[in-house]
Amino acid sequence: MARPDFSVLPSVDRLLEAPALAAAAAEYGRAEALTGARQVLAEARRALEAGGVPDPAALGPAAAARMAARGQPSLRRVFNLTGVVLHTNLGRAPLPQEALAAIAAAAGTCNLEYDLKTGRRGDRDSHVETLLTELTGAEAALVVNNNAAAVLLMLNSLSAGRDTLVSRGELVEIGGSFRMPEIMARAGARMVEVGTTNRTHPGDFEAAIGPETGCVMKVHTSNYEVVGFTASVPDDRLARIAVTAGVPYAVDLGAGQLVDLARYGLPQEPMPGRVLAAGAGLVTFSGDKLLGGPQAGIVVGQGSLVAALKRNPMRRAMRLGKLSLAALEAVLRLYRDPDRLAERLPALRALVRPVEEIEAQARRLAPAIEGSEITVVASQIGSGSLPVEYLESRALALSAPSGKALEARAAAFRQLSIPVIGRLSEGRLLFDLRALDDEAAFLSQLPL
Ligand SMILES: *Cc1c(COP(=O)(O)O)cnc(C)c1O
Repeated sequence: MARPDFSVLPSVDRLLEAPALAAAAAEYGRAEALTGARQVLAEARRALEAGGVPDPAALGPAAAARMAARGQPSLRRVFNLTGVVLHTNLGRAPLPQEALAAIAAAAGTCNLEYDLKTGRRGDRDSHVETLLTELTGAEAALVVNNNAAAVLLMLNSLSAGRDTLVSRGELVEIGGSFRMPEIMARAGARMVEVGTTNRTHPGDFEAAIGPETGCVMKVHTSNYEVVGFTASVPDDRLARIAVTAGVPYAVDLGAGQLVDLARYGLPQEPMPGRVLAAGAGLVTFSGDKLLGGPQAGIVVGQGSLVAALKRNPMRRAMRLGKLSLAALEAVLRLYRDPDRLAERLPALRALVRPVEEIEAQARRLAPAIEGSEITVVASQIGSGSLPVEYLESRALALSAPSGKALEARAAAFRQLSIPVIGRLSEGRLLFDLRALDDEAAFLSQLPL
């Protein structure tokens, strides 16, 4: 076979002068352009060796396209049209404008751990502690990186080397890899299972409690329910049993909410303030579940117990970064004005959206997506470790001649500059519009 004629290909320097590549070099830098040029030239050489006829004029644009693809950030905005409003894989709660402004302000230098009054060292949690005590009635509060960390810190502080009493019906796995028995073990706490899977009575706790008990724990499970012949011990009763024995009652609420969602017609989740009022010593919950803020773990409760957590050296390894702290403070501030909360907090806005409004949006958007039909669906509040109640909604449904063709349509929507994520259900691709708030940006990418 004759040796291929490599001279039909430009040199790297010549290729770099191609207009498409020169423009890309101006945007992404000369080093990136050089890498891109070398890669496409190497591929063209291999193509020649294999008997192909590469087009030299296409090399510049090919290298530029490669640079543009590399230039895309990995972590990007997407449209969450899955129907799961608080989606753990899609960043849970979208933050309000107020939080974005606070993040921008704190991104530079800020008084993170600096007391502006005294000019001395301050405490990073002080920026949210007053708000949290105000909103829950707690004596004290602290924040860490997420609720999993809050639970770990709480158990380690109260119960390391001692017994933690917990009902057998609450030894749960919550989304991904958070399993209560494993967390207890890592916290150094001995788990003592009380009662049975479906029924636990006050007497079960009274019999198990003793001098070795570090705390009595309750795990609120919003991702499943034990139904049928069941019994559990109510908060106030369990708190009384713990307090009588002189040990703290510690509650992991998971998706704790700071306003009563019943006022918006939503299913009720327990509120930290009410659990504290029932006698709990400490309550933990997430910042980015129903609260609608950034990823954070919040602990509220009695001053002496919160102080014990604050002294734990583990806390340093779980502290919240300044950007999340700024966002959390801004979101908590919105709760001081509950009347406007549903307008200002995007997660709540999506959850309370009237179905007529979603229907009207579906009618506006359907013509822009070929072959789409409007379908009645049920959105979920969350999934995995979040409450899974359903809310009536509307979706645009797309069909395709085969499963493969449907996958291809879904993939095309994921390749858009703001990827659109739907869900496949019964042979159709569904775009649930409940959480679509930026209709203009969505439309600007269509038709597809
Ligand atoms: C979600 C959840 C957690 C974990 O919270 P993250 O903020 O995701 O770390 C722990 N416990 C319960 C009961 C939960 O629902």
